[in-house]
Amino acid sequence: MTFASLGLSPQIVRAVEERNYSAPTPIQSAVIPGVLSGRDVWACAHTGSGKTAAFALPLLQRYSQARRDTPRPLRSLILVPTRELAAQIGASIDAYARYLLDPVKVSVVFGGVSINPQMMALRGGADMVVATPGRLLDLVEHNALHLRSVATLVLDEADRLLELGFADELANVLSWLPERRQTLLFSATFPPAVNALAEILLRDPLRVDVPSTPATVPDIHQRAIHVDAPRRTQLLLRLIREHGWTRVLVFVATKYSTEHVAEKLRRAGINAEAFHGELSQGARTQALADFKAQQLQVLVATDVAARGIDIVHLPAVVNFDLPRSTDDYIHRIGRTGRAGQSGVAVSFVSASTESHFRLIEKRHKLTLAREIVAGFEPVETAAPVAAAPGTGGIKGKRKSKKDKLRERGGLN
Ligand code: AMP
Repeated sequence: MTFASLGLSPQIVRAVEERNYSAPTPIQSAVIPGVLSGRDVWACAHTGSGKTAAFALPLLQRYSQARRDTPRPLRSLILVPTRELAAQIGASIDAYARYLLDPVKVSVVFGGVSINPQMMALRGGADMVVATPGRLLDLVEHNALHLRSVATLVLDEADRLLELGFADELANVLSWLPERRQTLLFSATFPPAVNALAEILLRDPLRVDVPSTPATVPDIHQRAIHVDAPRRTQLLLRLIREHGWTRVLVFVATKYSTEHVAEKLRRAGINAEAFHGELSQGARTQALADFKAQQLQVLVATDVAARGIDIVHLPAVVNFDLPRSTDDYIHRIGRTGRAGQSGVAVSFVSASTESHFRLIEKRHKLTLAREIVAGFEPVETAAPVAAAPGTGGIKGKRKSKKDKLRERGGLN
């Protein structure tokens, strides 16, 4: 299978070849012809599966051929849960659109930064807009953007959009959109709320369900190391040095832990930064840019902040704290081993988080040997507490209010 055989133009094929995509991933093979033919799509797709190109390539193709009006009527609206994902998708679309004969104008809008430059950028219209829901609504209310002409709506990471409490904003956005349109829904998981949304929004959709492992055939070596919680930072330092990891994404459960662990690493001479939703947009962009440019060796992040970030050549991911949700395990390890690279994903497991890790293994049909690193032999035994430290707390006691979540994600 080739990109050309999916019906994509030579200009688009050239752009993906330049990115070293040798062949379409399974989700791309399934989704691209469907989108080109105007069908709705209901796709189960994880980050790393190549889903961005799956929707972006055919949309670019369709709308680059559309008649040019002034101002440009908005054709595609791509709704995403986080700023980072919005920025990343915008950058990918720009790269895919490079060689189009009729240039496509793509605008990326998200909150946490001044609205004025975004309003200016939207003057004269845009063919595609990638947006977080809150800022999109602000722009619509300011008359900077009209949604009446939208022919295709893409909901990316629909599960995360709802988890982060965007249901009201989503309903509001939908009320501005024309009823007759194409809708493409991508989600890594399908809890009842996402299924209900899909049932309402999609008409005779093409159902696509690709295997949950990232489809770019990554080679991710998963490891579980048994270690007592207080010794994790030392063990992390040992691993970084032993393996010579040039870039490591470390996941922790809370904003406090991102700062705390990053500080301890810095004191040990490792260039590390915290990455969480309460940082200013400038600080987040800078940390990510430094990490990508290899000026920062370790990024210590929460799930919400790190969701969707795409860093090619990331050799290692460490679950310093285990993910609270078993699905997040897949999202986290999918950060490494991207675009055909190999990677390692290490989980720190202690006596009190062992049962939670077993749940993760069971859910993903994994059986990982528990390794013990010399000098870090665990001595703790499981405490009879209800909450396993590092799993983010007991369900129900977690800060689950919409505002808190959105605050953590830095969402607007
Ligand atoms: P996504 O799931 O869209 O976030 O894409 C995950 C990663 O896979 C990104 O780094 C893409 O650039 C890369 N990618 C997407 N499609 C392909 C492909 N057909 N071959 C190789 N890499 C790809």
